[in-house]
Amino acid sequence: NFKKGLKKTGDLLKTDIRDLFKSEGRLVDEEFLEDIRAILFKTDMGYDSVEALVAEIAQQFRARVVHREDLVGALKVKLKELMAQPESPIEFADSGPTVVMVCGVNGAGKTTSIAKLTHLFKSHGKSVILGAGDTFRAAAVEQLTIWADRLGAQIVTGEPQSHPASVAYRAAEQAAKDGIDVCIVDTAGRLQTQRNLMDELTKIRQSIGKPVPGAPHETLLVLDATTGQNGISQANSFAEAAGCTGLVLAKLDGTAKGGVVVAIRQQLGLPVKYIGVGEKHEDLAPFVPDEFVEALFA
Ligand code: GDP
Repeated sequence: NFKKGLKKTGDLLKTDIRDLFKSEGRLVDEEFLEDIRAILFKTDMGYDSVEALVAEIAQQFRARVVHREDLVGALKVKLKELMAQPESPIEFADSGPTVVMVCGVNGAGKTTSIAKLTHLFKSHGKSVILGAGDTFRAAAVEQLTIWADRLGAQIVTGEPQSHPASVAYRAAEQAAKDGIDVCIVDTAGRLQTQRNLMDELTKIRQSIGKPVPGAPHETLLVLDATTGQNGISQANSFAEAAGCTGLVLAKLDGTAKGGVVVAIRQQLGLPVKYIGVGEKHEDLAPFVPDEFVEALFA
């Protein structure tokens, strides 16, 4: 799954790094370091990460001849260090339903990611109920209902324009009443009304916590990997307002700038929990930093 998600990025990196080594080895001088810097920048890893990697290469190999395997090996080790994060699968509640709130701007891949999470939880033997809290977009509710039917999950919807918090409340309440393992709550993702949106997310959080004390247990922010680093600042305010606990990086398969995961991990300080690697419900992988790094250089 990681390989699939990082094929475009990996292919680009591999070709670029191979091209660096037309001859056996290369002398690590300023020109070589500049070449490495340029290659890494192309993957969208972000300034800090690129500089940390280049500094590492300079420190290890400056004025020496380096071979491709040694270079790649050193990059991998440093990158794994940069990407390290606590093992962070979803935190399931000790008793009662686990409530997962999902937010993100429209088009990021929120609906699809909810479907993928539903499939993943169900494949682990958990029952799932969805709360169609994006009540402002009829299409989103429709789409989510189709997914719920297809994947065999219950769904709670509201009247059009009904308050998202009431849908979220009902979904969480039903989960508690029926002994359902996981309740996934969709939220609206309009950006133009940032203030309202953030207020709304707060209200949703509060109403989820009434029928299920301690909920939401996880608040996942879905980011579109193809928007690259542009998404980061936007994500920052979202993450703060919504009290996000982790990220889902959708559409990683659609970009050759998969290094953006590194930049996002570094700049947002939130663990990346899942990556989306395609449009189908099984195209979601729990994020494992070491596997990610290996796939990047595979
Ligand atoms: P929402 O508006 O945030 O709910 O976004 P959707 O879930 O409707 O996704 C928007 C588009 O992106 C749809 O065409 C999805 O099929 C597509 N999409 C979502 N996740 C992925 C992914 O991981 N990979 C690819 N290739 N496409 C995705």
